[in-house]
Amino acid sequence: MSKEFDVLVIGGGPGGYVAAIRAAQLGFKTACCESNPYADPKGEPRLGGTCLNVGCIPSKALLHTSHLFEEAGHAFEGQGISVGTPKIDVPKMIARKSGIVDQLTGGIKGLFKKNKVTLLNGHGAFVGKADAGWQVQVGEELVTAKQVIVATGSAPRHLPGVPVDNKIVCDNVGALDLDAVPKKLAVIGAGVIGLEMGSVWRRLGAEVTVLEAMPEFLSLADQDVAKEALKVFTKQGLKFNLGVTIGEVKVGKKGVSIAYRDKDGAEQKLEADRLIVSVGRVPNTQGLNAEAVGLKLNERGQIEVDDHCKTNLPGVWAVGDVVRGPMLAHKAMEEAVMVAELMAGQAGHCNFDTVPWVLYTSPEIAWVGKTEQQLKAAGVAYKVGKIPFLANGRALGMGDSTGFVKMLADATTDRILGVHIIGANASELISEAVVAMEFAGCSEDLARICHAHPTLSEVVHEAALACDKRPLHF
Ligand code: FAD
Repeated sequence: MSKEFDVLVIGGGPGGYVAAIRAAQLGFKTACCESNPYADPKGEPRLGGTCLNVGCIPSKALLHTSHLFEEAGHAFEGQGISVGTPKIDVPKMIARKSGIVDQLTGGIKGLFKKNKVTLLNGHGAFVGKADAGWQVQVGEELVTAKQVIVATGSAPRHLPGVPVDNKIVCDNVGALDLDAVPKKLAVIGAGVIGLEMGSVWRRLGAEVTVLEAMPEFLSLADQDVAKEALKVFTKQGLKFNLGVTIGEVKVGKKGVSIAYRDKDGAEQKLEADRLIVSVGRVPNTQGLNAEAVGLKLNERGQIEVDDHCKTNLPGVWAVGDVVRGPMLAHKAMEEAVMVAELMAGQAGHCNFDTVPWVLYTSPEIAWVGKTEQQLKAAGVAYKVGKIPFLANGRALGMGDSTGFVKMLADATTDRILGVHIIGANASELISEAVVAMEFAGCSEDLARICHAHPTLSEVVHEAALACDKRPLHF
């Protein structure tokens, strides 16, 4: 006898658990299965996927602690506070991080109970289709569901021939769990994860060298922001080698030796105590038995979906990191809600043009919409409003006035096309731009809105005013 549901969600990360909760709220008899690579030592299942267990949340906890440590070491003195030389207790910092993870993952179990979602502990794999719906093997049980949402997420990409032991050579899992500050840390990949993890361990005292294959730094970001970021991070002590080709990586008991060719073609060697490999992520489709039911994947191994996250199979949907688009938790959650609402016959919607990007470095970097280089390439006529945080009283009071806000608006219609921020609290400030763009707002709309004084949001306001060449404080 198989268990029967209206909806089965495969995977309990941000895409999966949100899809399950919303589907249940809309009246579907819903189950969510999770294969639980993050089960605790007692085998207790943990929901939340990459994001809560080994991604967004633990990384932000460590970024916060390391930021405080750095402030105590460098910034307090200038404000008249003496605390002596700060010391870091790494196991205590890691335990605090793990406590936050436990609290949040446990919270999702509570949300499942509240919303009457059935949690199935086991790996989900397609079996076939019967009259009652799609059949999926979950652990020992056969489950039948009228509709299936695949939300199996992604896993770290590893370098060929370089085994990750999460002790000497780490991916995101090990990088969030080091037992001590390495003296020398090598990072391969200057993407979001490499920069965030490199920042954590640099702030705590490691000598960090980042090797990146792309000749351009942060090629996805507006290049004005990328240039400023490279300047600031380098000043902070992160060492960057861009445009490199990685050669042989030799792993010993105490460290690694990385051979690489630099941007001029010269052979180089980097010795380090630890290596973090952050060269991207691959979609999790292995073990899903996609071929048994003819579920189509694209050339990148992602499940092929349309703008509404429909796959080629009727009643089978896919969301989050396992499909195209940015690998971001909030994008996964947006898609999840859209799918549940479409299943219920509602007008589910996900605007991919207003998905914000954030790097939680110091200063933070955040953007939404088009970059200046994208607008140039598309031949769009635009105007620019750019204001530094240095002109803002709150930023000066906080002792954190690095960076700027840059707004790009259509030269004819004034509609906001992109907003790019490097500076304190950029992760929060970007929401104003997202709201404005979601409502098809113009720079004049933001310029005419009253912003509280003194706040960092006044820099967004001034950037909007600057689009019309009438800033008041710069
Ligand atoms: P996942 O979170 O990967 O969840 C998929 C789940 O499915 C997993 O629990 C997995 O065990 C389970 N699963 C897989 N296959 C099966 C199967 N066959 N049966 C049952 N279960 C299965 N994003 C942000 O937006 N902000 C950030 O600050 C941020 N920071 C990050 C920091 C790091 C270090 C990393 C690694 C990622 C970060 N991300 C961040 C990305 C974010 O974690 C992902 O975009 C997000 O988790 C994707 O959600 P998902 O539900 O698609 O997949």
